Amino acid sequence: MKSTLKRTWAEIDLDALDYNYQTIRSHIGAKTKFLGVVKADAYGHGSVQIASRLQELGADYLAVSSIDEAMELRFNGITMPILILGHTPKEQVDRLICFNITQAVTCKAKADEYNAEALKYGGTLKVHIKVDTGMSRLGYLCNDEHFDSGIEGIVEACQLPGLQAEGIFTHFAMADEEDSMSQAYTQKQFALFQNVIHAVETKWGQTFSLHHCANTGATVDHPETYLDMVRPGLLLYGYGTHAKKWHLQPLMSLKTVVSTIKVYDPGTHVSYGGIYTTNKKTRMGVIPYGYADGFLRSLSNRCQLMSVDGPVQQCGRICMDMAMIDLTDKWNVKVGSEIEIFGPHRSLDDWAALAGTIPYEIVCAVSKRVPRFYLQSGKIISKELLLRM
Ligand SMILES: *Cc1c(COP(=O)(O)O)cnc(C)c1O
Repeated sequence: MKSTLKRTWAEIDLDALDYNYQTIRSHIGAKTKFLGVVKADAYGHGSVQIASRLQELGADYLAVSSIDEAMELRFNGITMPILILGHTPKEQVDRLICFNITQAVTCKAKADEYNAEALKYGGTLKVHIKVDTGMSRLGYLCNDEHFDSGIEGIVEACQLPGLQAEGIFTHFAMADEEDSMSQAYTQKQFALFQNVIHAVETKWGQTFSLHHCANTGATVDHPETYLDMVRPGLLLYGYGTHAKKWHLQPLMSLKTVVSTIKVYDPGTHVSYGGIYTTNKKTRMGVIPYGYADGFLRSLSNRCQLMSVDGPVQQCGRICMDMAMIDLTDKWNVKVGSEIEIFGPHRSLDDWAALAGTIPYEIVCAVSKRVPRFYLQSGKIISKELLLRM
């Protein structure tokens, strides 16, 4: 572990997580349950640490995208309910039951398959029915002429003896967008979801304990969609426009150090391909942060990082393990000085905008080679290196 200290690392602020959780709680009210989305290693923040904290804080549910992600949590002390949003092969149904993991059921074929496996195993699988109200990805298709067949399929699934239908949910395609067309689309999806719930529960003669649909955008902008539980991901981590609206705090800062400094004459080509040539005597630093750490190569020659002496220009192609920065006149920056990639002085949102992408992709791209340090009250309370050592 010591070997990677002070190369390139991520600092995860657990106080910010507490603050964001409590703030979201105060907005959604005491009657609304909270599901924290911790898929993709909690958006790169470390799912075990984030889930453990959410469990301590009293969150109601977690969601991941695969059984491996769910098992990782179960093997690391997470006992609270976990919903798998994505695909699980039917051969794994016994493990789902054994470890009390809830599975999304997205169509008749899956319902039948899961039911058969559960009966074979001699147990019942807890499921949440996924309704496709307009995302056009997973879920029972229920719009327009598909309404009746959709309802029938869902009721049929709910009545299967191997399945216990605890919840029903849908996912919004445009709740993150501010324009009126997107807002109307969200409203239309929500209206359809409510109609589906009503029709299914009438026909089935029972009610689901958990109805949920509000992702980050809907949690902030559409309180009418809360139902029993909200289901935000990005909001919890404190990035994006919606987090800003509620004054939430970003959890992750990404930092690196200057490993070497050299002075080049004017006319010196720097890095692969010669896309950067010095036009002055240049004091050039090397940082051990490259695209294998998550530094998008498309940002080559067109981004700045933050030093103690202010912004510094990145020069030349970003390499796999390194990149170069112009430190001319930045006399307080020396070998060993810290450089902030994103964090308090330079937001992840701006960084993502510069890269032409969304904050989700940037945090997910912070690779396993980058150790995560967990901070509480400004102190590092744990470290995690994701390499096999
Ligand atoms: C990822 C995901 C979420 C969380 O989305 P955010 O935009 O991060 O809030 C919620 N529901 C489903 C089904 C998801 O796949």
